[in-house]
This record gives sequence, structure tokens and C-alpha cells, in this order.
Amino acid sequence: MLTLSKTIARLKQHYGEPQAPPAHGPFELVMWENACYLLSDERRLEVFESLRKKVGLNAAAIHSASDEVLLPLARRGGMRPETRVFRWREIARIALTQFSGDLDSILTSPYLQAKKALKQFPNIGDPGAEKILLLCGMASGLPLESNGLRVLVRIGWGRLQKSYGATYRSVQDDLKPILPTTANTLKEAHLLLRQHGKTLCKEKAPLCDQCPLFKGCDYAEKRAASAFRLC
Ligand code: SF4
Repeated sequence: MLTLSKTIARLKQHYGEPQAPPAHGPFELVMWENACYLLSDERRLEVFESLRKKVGLNAAAIHSASDEVLLPLARRGGMRPETRVFRWREIARIALTQFSGDLDSILTSPYLQAKKALKQFPNIGDPGAEKILLLCGMASGLPLESNGLRVLVRIGWGRLQKSYGATYRSVQDDLKPILPTTANTLKEAHLLLRQHGKTLCKEKAPLCDQCPLFKGCDYAEKRAASAFRLC
């Protein structure tokens, strides 16, 4: 099985420097997570940048914006736009009432406290809070979203379990002893694994014949062996 460092090195060689979201700081990253539901990164970017341009990506501006301004933007973000508008206002309300509108202040707290603060916001659970902190330069492990998790499971980390949460934990348990410690390396790993899961290692029909991880990937080796047996 491929080591994590080899995996990341090969992905970096294949894709180049990974691209982080265009959101800066915890407040923008919470808004980035809540911009869309089940839509492409391109659409997320459109909604997010429209919010920046037409409303302002800060708690006071979002809190005081009218439905007439927010609803059309929320409709571009997918199903249930009214719920999305409610969440945007809720994000702004929490930021204003608990952090005086300055969510950057959580970055001076100890890691666990900062994570707890982020989990108060809509749609931000443990992996989401860890990812936001990682993108802000604070790391304690390698947060994974579904694409990155799928890549690592296929390579051979952890075990596929009945529930997503159990699979996530089994991969994290396997990774724990070998993880890099610097936030920058972990951020690079998170972004490249996500990119790979969205580009080649797709959920249905992964494109193994084009994959830089082909040699050393458990899933690809098993697939090749079963194809050979069928010949
Ligand atoms: S070889 Fe196939 S299954 Fe393995 S990481 Fe690449 S695309 Fe995914």
C-alpha cells in the first residue's frame, strides 16, 4: 500500500499546487460552507462572490441585508433557499453576539476551544470545524471530506464500514501514527485528496488507468486481478 507521503507527492506532481477556497478567515469559511447545497464548486464560488459583491462578507452586512437581496442569491445555492437565508443570518447573529463580529478572534484560542466555537455555526460539525481551522493555519490531524476519505479507503487506509462515521474513524485511527505535523503539509494533503476524489477517483467508475496512484492502490490491484481472472 502507498504511504501517505508518497500519495501526496504523486498527487502534487500530477495536479500541481493545490487550490484553497477563495474564502479567508473563519467567518468567510463558515459562509463558504453554507453558500450552496449539493452543487458544484463553480456554483459555490458564484454564490459566495455574489454575496461578497452585493452584500459584503461580514456579519453586520449579512445581518442587516433584506430578503429581497439575500433570497435571489440563496436560490442560486440550490434547494430550500429560505433555509439558507435563515442560516446566513444565524451565522451573522452568532458572530455578532458572541464574537463582536470578529470571528478571527477564535484563532488565538487553544485548538479545542476554537473548534468548539466553530461548531456553533450551522452545518459545521467536527470535520468541518477542523477543516476551517486547517485552512486558517491551525491543525490537529487531517480532516477529510467525502472525496478524500474515499481515495484513502481505496488505497488501503482504514476499512469500509456500514456507516460513514465508522469508516471515517477507522481511517483516522490508521493515519494517526504517521501524520505530518505542520499545518501547511496537512492542508496540502486535504486539498489534493479532495481534488483527486473529484477528478479521477470518482465515486462511480474511478479512472484508475489515468491515476498516478495506480501502483500501490489496493482497489486498483484487486480490480485488475479480477479482470485478469475473467479473461
Ligand atoms: S487507482 Fe483508481 S481507485 Fe486507486 S486511487 Fe487511483 S482512481 Fe482511485
